[in-house]
Amino acid sequence: MSDETAERIADLIAPLRVRPGSKVDLERDFDPRYKGGLKKRDGAELLRTGVSLLAEYQERLAAQDTYGVVLCLQALDAGGKDGTIRHVMSGVNPQGVRVSSFKVPSSEELDHDYLWRYNQRLPTRGEIAIFNRSHYEEVLVVRVHPENLVRQKLPEGSLGPGVWDRRYREINRWERYLTDNGFKVVKIFLNLSKEEQRTRFLKRIDLPEKNWKFSAADVRERRRWDDYQFAFSEMLSATSTKWAPWYVVPADRKWFARICAAAVLAHTLDEIDPQFPDVGDQARQDLLVTRRALELEAPEGDAADPYAERHPSAGRTGKRHGKSRKKRG
Ligand code: ATP
Ligand code: MG
Repeated sequence: MSDETAERIADLIAPLRVRPGSKVDLERDFDPRYKGGLKKRDGAELLRTGVSLLAEYQERLAAQDTYGVVLCLQALDAGGKDGTIRHVMSGVNPQGVRVSSFKVPSSEELDHDYLWRYNQRLPTRGEIAIFNRSHYEEVLVVRVHPENLVRQKLPEGSLGPGVWDRRYREINRWERYLTDNGFKVVKIFLNLSKEEQRTRFLKRIDLPEKNWKFSAADVRERRRWDDYQFAFSEMLSATSTKWAPWYVVPADRKWFARICAAAVLAHTLDEIDPQFPDVGDQARQDLLVTRRALELEAPEGDAADPYAERHPSAGRTGKRHGKSRKKRG
């Protein structure tokens, strides 16, 4: 992308990034209604730009064979995870994206260490894996409802008050390991206000076509609002790292949340700057020989190379066609 676009995206998301090492108080530090000075009517255009940018990046990511991306999405109920995934990924090739939703662990999953099931869903090189809920549930819902921890069959010495700090450390190290091995981890928390959650729950009750989305369990979880805010604050403070930062995306306005989510992913891909593989000079020479042979097969009166005739600037120079831009300093 152009330097200007890249800078615009970086500026948009900079206030959302949790500074590594900072102590977060969610309610004090992040406003769910923030919209970065944008207006809704500019939003649709911006989202379209973001989505087509992602499509272009993803094509290049899929072509190379070094990097993969893990995008973790966390939110409170009705935070808009599903809609965000649907909109942000609307332009990309489904073959390069893998969405995994993590629910209450199965008995098979509970028979393993807690990171096991997330390991199973990691991307291959070239892929984007979206985690709809993620390993962070292990320090969120499990912390708010410690009976979940009991079900995890941990040895005696691994329970107790140090368990959350230990998990933060383990998660940070796991993400560091992934990053060092080519898998970039980026984390988005869709930050919804309590009042907007109430409105969205009511909408699910008021509109018959939304009734299926309503869950009494969600309303029960709402009663633990303050405990979740605390668990989120602790988690954001402990696990936003230089290699795998958290972004707190204001989620009261869906249109803005979607733009931000697309921007965070675009920024991540921009940092990777994936390139179409360069086949090398020898392979290129071989291609030119093959082209000559194919051209000789042209039927009488037809163009030797119909594609080149329609696209006069294509191919003839023998140069690679990566769309990379110069790295900013
Ligand atoms: P939807 O938008 O469809 O409601 P959802 O992500 O809320 O999507 P649900 O099936 O409603 O999916 O809920 C999944 C539940 O699983 C959540 O309440 C979540 O907290 C819980 N969960 C996820 N991971 C764990 C875990 N490791 N231990 C216990 N509960 C978990
Ligand atoms: Mg749910």
